Amino acid sequence: MSLPAGNDTVVYAFPMSFNYEGTRPLSAVAHPVPGDEENDTSPAYWFFQYKGVVEENATELGPWTVTEEEGSGAIWIFQWLEFGYRRMYEMYPEVPQMSVVTFWEPGVKFACGACFHPPGLGSPRVDLGGGQYDYYDTRFSFTGTAGTPKHWQRSSIGHEFGHYVMSNYSISPNEGGPHGLSDESRPGLAYSEGWATFFGQRNMSELDPEHLENIYFSVAEDTYWWYDLDKVATSQSIPKGNPDGPLDQNISEAIVTSMMWNLWAPPVGNLPHKNLGDKPLFDALTSSRTRSTALNRGYKKVDYVDYADGFTCNFAEYSSQVDEVSLLVGHPYKSAEKVCP
Ligand SMILES: [Zn+2]
Repeated sequence: MSLPAGNDTVVYAFPMSFNYEGTRPLSAVAHPVPGDEENDTSPAYWFFQYKGVVEENATELGPWTVTEEEGSGAIWIFQWLEFGYRRMYEMYPEVPQMSVVTFWEPGVKFACGACFHPPGLGSPRVDLGGGQYDYYDTRFSFTGTAGTPKHWQRSSIGHEFGHYVMSNYSISPNEGGPHGLSDESRPGLAYSEGWATFFGQRNMSELDPEHLENIYFSVAEDTYWWYDLDKVATSQSIPKGNPDGPLDQNISEAIVTSMMWNLWAPPVGNLPHKNLGDKPLFDALTSSRTRSTALNRGYKKVDYVDYADGFTCNFAEYSSQVDEVSLLVGHPYKSAEKVCP
């Protein structure tokens, strides 16, 4: 295919992908309503315009720079989401993926900072004009202010996509609200947040297998902060669980992330990585045991206990590794008590 030649050719590019059948939008970035950013109906998609000279029979435009002022943040968000979508599709090609529209605008702040709006929460759509809309199953919101530039934060983008993955491929405890690393949260919330952080850092680590992304890094309200997934077990500021306490005790989301990270991560020095890889970690998420409300034990909603049962029911040969990572952070999970379908 060649480009139309001319001195004032205009080429449009949308940060947008379609489902694998090519019949409807899968992922796109759109503008929120000015002054009403929580409104579910976006007035327009993000797109970028190239204007310039195109030679006769040209098949390439050459380099095309989109500056930060022109909204390159929309492209950065889109490409990380796209990377996550493709990895999950390769892992589970038979599972349909919910569509998602991302709301982002430079200078615009969302009440949640960054968040995933699961299906059923509103009806996200993009106004095409003339009474036509593109409808989406779910939505992301990312704050784009100077003090909270979520669009440049791979850890945050990956974390929110981790919530999408849990919602699409498993069940979510649907426990939201404020949370932090040093808080002991309800087990459902800790599981959901812990998984989301694990997913994001694991997704980022795919690019360079020699360099693990064990540092979660974030900027919010001009405050930079990070934590090292490899140091949770030795950190004074992250509360450990009580290994002899009840299964439904409140726990820190960071210890959930740490258990999953240690089970997944390849060997580095003498860190307690178990190197079990993606399959058991992701199959535990999707397993019928984890999703079963009839087999739920411990806390009343799905939590790490159900996930770990799903893990060890699928892969009984990894039971000792699952028990070891629990012990490191003081979580009361013991695989000997597991309940399998
Ligand atoms: Zn979260």
